[in-house]
Amino acid sequence: MAGIYIHIPYCKVKCHYCDFHFSTQADNANQMQLAMLQELDQRHSYLGSEKIKTIYFGGGTPSFVSSDFLKEVIQKIRSLFAVENDAEITVECNPDDITSSLLEAYSSAGINRFSMGVQSFDDDVLTFMNRAHSSREIIDSIALAKEYGFNNITIDLIYGIPNKKS
Ligand code: SF4
Repeated sequence: MAGIYIHIPYCKVKCHYCDFHFSTQADNANQMQLAMLQELDQRHSYLGSEKIKTIYFGGGTPSFVSSDFLKEVIQKIRSLFAVENDAEITVECNPDDITSSLLEAYSSAGINRFSMGVQSFDDDVLTFMNRAHSSREIIDSIALAKEYGFNNITIDLIYGIPNKKS
């Protein structure tokens, strides 16, 4: 069993605590996508005939780039690798990016799992961390995702925030 991880190096804002590799300037997203597609071509024999069970878009914030970006990468992976029909395809999302049209596009692209960047349900903590969403948006985005049939959702939470009890 094998999996493919794709790093999407863009974010809407910089969260104060974050040390991942990303940029808040996505002007070169088209070139980045082209480079990813080319690299997939170059590495298509890397896994031999091994079955791909998972595809994971991490970041950065994959939900910040267009759904077409992710869809074309998924199609490319499917054309080059032995992806199982029921492969788990995950996108890391931020609650403020989730809309009905995005969920429709993800569904048609075959995405079937979300890793939601929640971090906290406390609005003061979210502001302290410079998150781009409110606690209300977390609840609403998860409810909307479930309406669109996404039931495989995990959430990231951070504890040990300075000057906070939890
Ligand atoms: S959205 Fe995620 S990757 Fe981007 S700055 Fe915040 S924590 Fe880091």
